[in-house]
This record gives sequence, C-alpha cells and structure tokens, in this order.
Amino acid sequence: MKYKRVLLKLSGEFLTGDGFGIQPEATKTLAQEVAKAHALGTQLAIVVGGGNLWRGARQGVGMDRATADYIGMLGTIMNALALQDALEYLGVPTRVQTALTIQQVAEPYIRRRALRHLEKGRVVIFGGGTGNPFVTTDTAAALRGLEMNVDAVLMAKNKVDGVYDDDPRKNPQATKYDTLTFHDALVKGLQVMDGTAMTLCQEQNLSIIVFDMFKEGSLEGVIRGEPIGTLVHK
Ligand code: UDP
Repeated sequence: MKYKRVLLKLSGEFLTGDGFGIQPEATKTLAQEVAKAHALGTQLAIVVGGGNLWRGARQGVGMDRATADYIGMLGTIMNALALQDALEYLGVPTRVQTALTIQQVAEPYIRRRALRHLEKGRVVIFGGGTGNPFVTTDTAAALRGLEMNVDAVLMAKNKVDGVYDDDPRKNPQATKYDTLTFHDALVKGLQVMDGTAMTLCQEQNLSIIVFDMFKEGSLEGVIRGEPIGTLVHK
C-alpha cells in the first residue's frame, strides 16, 4: 500500500445516480467502493460535496451569494449523513464532523479529534465544506487534507479516468496525462479541481490524484500505488 492516509473528495452527484437528490441505492454503491478501500487498511478521510442538492453560484443567482453558499454547505451535511449511513450499513466505522455545528447529528470539526478517529481506523466524513462561503468543497478537500497530513488528495470523477488536454466526452482525440505539474495544470486551465484549492495544494506540495470512481477497483488501485488516473504533483 503506497498511501497510508488519504483525503477522498466525493462530489455530491455520486449520491444521486440517475435520480434526484440523495438516492439510497446510489449511495450504497458508492459506499461499497469506499469500504473496499478502507479494508486495505488505509486511513480514509472524506470531503463530500453538495452539487446534487444545491450550488450557491448556480442555483443561488438572484440571492445574496453568501446565503446561497450557506444553503450549499447545509446540503453537504445532508450528503455526509447519507454516506455515513451507507458505510455503517456495510460495517465500516465512521464519524461525521461538520464545519458548521449541528451537534445533534454530528461532531463539530475538531482537528485533533479527527486525527484520532483516523488513527483508530474510522472513516471521517467532513460535512459543511470549509464553513465559509465563496469557495467550494474542493477547497475543503485541500484544507482538510493538509490539516490531516494526508499523503495525497484523491479527486474522484464520474466516468472520466484522469486529466485530459480536452474534454474526452466531447473530443475523442483528447489525450490523458499520466502525470502533470501543478504549474502546467494551472497554466493550461485543466480540470483538476478549483483554482483556489489547487493553488493551496501547490503551495503546500500536496499531491492530487484524479481518477474514475466507478471503474472497478480504481480507488483501491490508486491507494496501492498503481498507475491509475493522473497524478498532479510538484
Ligand atoms: N460551499 C461553500 N463553502 C464551502 C463548501 C461548499 O459555500 O466550503 C457551498 C457552495 O455554494 C457550493 C455548494 O456548497 O456550490 C456545494 O458544494 P460543491 O459545489 O463543492 O459540491 P460538489 O460539486 O463537489 O458536489
């Protein structure tokens, strides 16, 4: 196993499947992949997005942006609870910690406590993003990844198996990068994660791996250190 501790960023859309909002079946399918990775013995922290429910910048047009973003953060907490439920159904011990406190349903984010959970083999799911508007859960992934001292941030994608020089869903000639530098990814404007988040990873030298979440065994392979997806590094 190459990566002993990782931060996995899951988009909210992974909980949706072909339906709307949170679909228990889709959430279970997702949880199964996470459970397999957890079974390898790697310490797993997860930041879950909320785009399946609400995106402040898109759905909140005509609203105060900060308010729209807080709605989005609440959505990520709903997703975090759904994912926790699906993981515990599979017998994976988990804790949810949120950047906005909702103490009746989840722990508040406490860094040292989160680290302790990881050491004990619990999957820690971070809800509520960063707790601040004007950023996305990609920034939360970079930030929590750094705070948890992870070996890499794993950016799970849906039906895209890495970073391409063009959109592979539209351009069949697009070619995939096996590795990329932060600099090239930023300069070329490639779809790795939000610019704010990637700048943070670049400054702190935290490697990012972009891979396809639903390609069989992909997450496990990444954690084992197999050349899967695209590695973005210094
Ligand atoms: N959000 C925010 N601050 C954060 C994280 C999320 O304001 O630190 C809001 C923002 O409105 C965002 C929404 O929550 O659009 C859902 O998160 P995101 O778009 O990152 O979800 P994903 O695309 O990963 O599913």
